[in-house]
Amino acid sequence: MTRRRTYVRRCSATGCREISQIEYTARRDLEGVKPTWTCRKHDKPDEYLSAANLEQTAVLELHPKYRTNMDRQQVLLGNYWGPEGEPDKAHHGIVSGPGFWADAKNFPPGTRLTVTARIALPDTPA
Ligand SMILES: [Zn+2]
Repeated sequence: MTRRRTYVRRCSATGCREISQIEYTARRDLEGVKPTWTCRKHDKPDEYLSAANLEQTAVLELHPKYRTNMDRQQVLLGNYWGPEGEPDKAHHGIVSGPGFWADAKNFPPGTRLTVTARIALPDTPA
């Protein structure tokens, strides 16, 4: 039986105690894994909800993607959700989260999907 090992990385932000743990059996399993890592809180602090950051909104745009066929013609490959104005970063035909499911095939290119997450703290702390 192959022995499983754990590769542990500590967040690169000074003073942060978060760690990343990756299970592996052979050294080649770690190919492509960067030796440095930053936790979600420090990698994207604007997205990290907290008592000081109670709401975030993200907007995705539906981008058409094309491929070149054997006759060297551009043909529609499909529509994909991605950041506004960045068609090269559109990779998902379906995006979902709690309470919604948005399938690109139901909408025309240029459609915007606005997702808002809002924290409501209790009036009196528990
Ligand atoms: Zn961190």
